Amino acid sequence: MLCPYCKSKENKVVDKRDNDETSATRRRRECLDCGKRFTTYERIQNISLMVEKRSGRLQEFDREKLKKGVLKAVKKRPINDEQIEELIDDIELRLLNRRTTQVKSTDIGKMVLTRLRKLDSVGYLLFASVYRDFNSINDFKKEIAELEKQ
Ligand SMILES: [Zn+2]
Repeated sequence: MLCPYCKSKENKVVDKRDNDETSATRRRRECLDCGKRFTTYERIQNISLMVEKRSGRLQEFDREKLKKGVLKAVKKRPINDEQIEELIDDIELRLLNRRTTQVKSTDIGKMVLTRLRKLDSVGYLLFASVYRDFNSINDFKKEIAELEKQ
């Protein structure tokens, strides 16, 4: 189990949660070299979750890729790494709990949006603009009007 930040092999488990429904064990680890925290999942069965892209192509679910996408959209916002990590954890667990092993990339995008909206409305708009291909100021206006309704 390598640290995703510095590739060190030395880490300790700081939190462990079993999920009976998915037979996955989630472990929160802390790197003993750089001190950063990361999450690992160990599954009894190796379920590979496939993501259906807009083009119809299938790709294996990549947690890091999803995280990078979210981070890129909200990088100037006051949302910390821990919060993003939790958001991704929540989505991943939700996906693993589904009976199917295939999910549409647009569904994942919606799941990110639902959670970002609670976290930071500007971050939400930034992600929405990328994800929904906003191309005019009106797209933003519409989305802001929706946000204000709630
Ligand atoms: Zn490290």
